[in-house]
Amino acid sequence: MLKKELSLEKFKVLLNHFNDGVFLIEDGAFVYVNSVLADMLGYSIEQMIDQPFVPFVYKKDRDKVIEYYHARLLGKDVPQEYEFRLQHEQGKLVDIRINVGVFTDADGRQTSMGTIKDLRESKRNMSDLARSRRDIESILNNMPDVFYRTDINGVITLMSPSAIDVLGYTAEEMLGKPLADFYCTPSDREMVLAALQKNQGKASQVEACLKHKDGSLRWILTNAYIKIHGGRAIGVEGIARDITERKEMEKRLIKFARYDDLTQIYNRRVFYTEAEKQIEIAHRYQRQAAVLMMDLDDFKKINDNYGHHTGDEVLKDFVKICKDSMRQTDFIGRTGGEEFAVFSPETDLDDALQLAERICENTRVNRIHVDGEKISYTVSVGVAILLKTNDSIDTLLSNADKALYQAKAAGRNGVRAYY
Ligand code: GH3
Ligand code: MG
Ligand code: MG
Repeated sequence: MLKKELSLEKFKVLLNHFNDGVFLIEDGAFVYVNSVLADMLGYSIEQMIDQPFVPFVYKKDRDKVIEYYHARLLGKDVPQEYEFRLQHEQGKLVDIRINVGVFTDADGRQTSMGTIKDLRESKRNMSDLARSRRDIESILNNMPDVFYRTDINGVITLMSPSAIDVLGYTAEEMLGKPLADFYCTPSDREMVLAALQKNQGKASQVEACLKHKDGSLRWILTNAYIKIHGGRAIGVEGIARDITERKEMEKRLIKFARYDDLTQIYNRRVFYTEAEKQIEIAHRYQRQAAVLMMDLDDFKKINDNYGHHTGDEVLKDFVKICKDSMRQTDFIGRTGGEEFAVFSPETDLDDALQLAERICENTRVNRIHVDGEKISYTVSVGVAILLKTNDSIDTLLSNADKALYQAKAAGRNGVRAYY
């Protein structure tokens, strides 16, 4: 169990020390790969990010992989773990075993994530005996933790001792109680029951939230089936595994791929896709929208005079100023080293200019205290709004960029708009 929050930086290092490749895919393209996976295929991480994953799959295996990928996103029952071949940068084939699942966030955005094991070594060395031992080992490793049984009313009639590891209760404490008492919400229990009903009395891989004795939440993966005796349903039997750690890791991975480490705001890619979505909405409902492009002035000097660490503090400080000046519906992203952008939905030029002036002014009067020094800095801002009904995100950003350039040319520490 992860007792303490891992920092993203540490987490990144940790992922690069895995034995297996780790990846995240959104809309068919890699949004994260660890160095193990990049090395396995002879590429750099940068060469793989944002690339569609399909070309990395060996031609003859593509149909199957693509079919599974789409079926999995649709929630169909496809193998979570299977083997196929990837293509190394130098053309040779890499036998791998993938273990993949789908994470859906609150907005319905789906991320495929998983691990990739390089099988080349093991394929070469493995005798039949070793292979079957691996199979047994894998079954043992994957044995779900808790075995339980309830009667037809949902009262617990059998509980394996491992319950204490997962929920903090001894088996005796749980016996005779309704299983429903241990779920976080009634709907968690209903999910398992609905899965049983939908699938002829068999529920496979249902994720639900249970309450630990200490009050914390535990994510549990359940495989259960309805027990039949003499043609009548007499209860439910199931095995449950604690997947809290995996869930935590999924959440962290998502954060890792979407947010800038230093400032904890959207990274460039996510800012771009979110802005693109907003523009689509603006066009559909004939609303206005604005973008602010902001670049800190003479930032190199701050690094040179006070050191890189202080530079980092200034970047975080600037993000705070922006957030304090923005509206709830505006969002900010880090688009470059000391470059940021704010997207402001339903905003006309006047309002956008006001926001830009506010950020500019708040930055100018602000002082940041680092190691006893009072540091001041300024920012230049370029503003652009949707001008035509078919303006794309690229047009909007490029217009804001031109305005920013003018703000710099006019002596910095000011705002310019693109008309
Ligand atoms: P200008 O007013 O024309 O924008 O001048 P500038 O010095 O801000 O512009 P320039 O693009 O020459 O320098 C940007 C500097 O930002 C260079 C780079 O070292 C620094 N930088 C980029 N990312 C980071 C970061 O994450 N932390 C720190 N401390 N510095 C960064
Ligand atoms: Mg710059
Ligand atoms: Mg700059």
